Amino acid sequence: RFPIFSADKELIGVGSLNTDITERKQMEAALRASEQEMRLLAATDPLTGARNRRSFFEIGNRELARSNRYNRPLSLLMIDIDHFKIFNDTYGHAAGDLVLKNFAVECIRTLREQDTLGRLGGEEFGVVLPEITLDTALGIAERLRQNLMNLETVADGQILKFTVSIGVGQCKPSATSIDLALGLADNALYRAKEQGRNKVLS
Ligand code: GH3
Ligand code: MG
Ligand code: MG
Repeated sequence: RFPIFSADKELIGVGSLNTDITERKQMEAALRASEQEMRLLAATDPLTGARNRRSFFEIGNRELARSNRYNRPLSLLMIDIDHFKIFNDTYGHAAGDLVLKNFAVECIRTLREQDTLGRLGGEEFGVVLPEITLDTALGIAERLRQNLMNLETVADGQILKFTVSIGVGQCKPSATSIDLALGLADNALYRAKEQGRNKVLS
C-alpha cells in the first residue's frame, strides 16, 4: 500500500498493489511434500517397508535422548527368522522375499504407531519401543512371536510358515547410545537360537 499525493502535495488517497501468490504457495507445499516423500524413501528398506539400518539407529538414538531427558523407559527387540535359508533353498529367492515382506507387514500390524521396525541385515530386524519397560517388552515380543508363527505366506501354491527368535533389552538410564541395549538383545537372541529357536528371551 502507498499514499497518493496531489500536485500540491496534499494526501488524496491510498493506492495498493496486489500479487496473487496462491500458485506459488501451492508449489511450495507440493515441493515440501515431495521432499518429505524423498526423505522417507531414503530411510526405508525397499523390500519390506521397514526402516533401513541407518534410519533405525537414528530413530533409536533420538528416542534414547528423549527417554533420558524425561526419565522414561525405552526397550529394544532383535528379531531373527528361524531357518530362513530353507525358504530360499527350497522355494527360491522370490519366495524368501515374499516371506520377508509378509513378516514386516505383520510386525507393523502388531506394533504401535510409535514403535519402529528396522531391517538390520538380511532376515534380522530390530524394534524400538518407546515408553516400554523390559517386562512389557517381553509381552510384546511374545505376542509378535505368536502372531508371526500363525502367519501364512502363499508362494507357488504352497503355504509357507516360519517361526522367529527374539531377544529383548531395556536401555540403561544415562546410556549415550542404543548399542548397549542392542547388544543385550543380541545376546538374548543368540541364547534363544541356542535353546532351540521359536523363543523370546531377555
Ligand atoms: P537361523 O535359525 O540360525 O537364523 O538360520 P537361518 O537360516 O535363518 O540363518 P542364516 O543367517 O544362515 O541365513 C540367512 C539367510 O537369509 C541367508 C541369506 O541368503 C538370506 N537372505 C538375506 N537377505 C535376503 C533377502 O533379501 N531375500 C532373500 N530371499 N533371502 C535373503
Ligand atoms: Mg535366521
Ligand atoms: Mg540371521
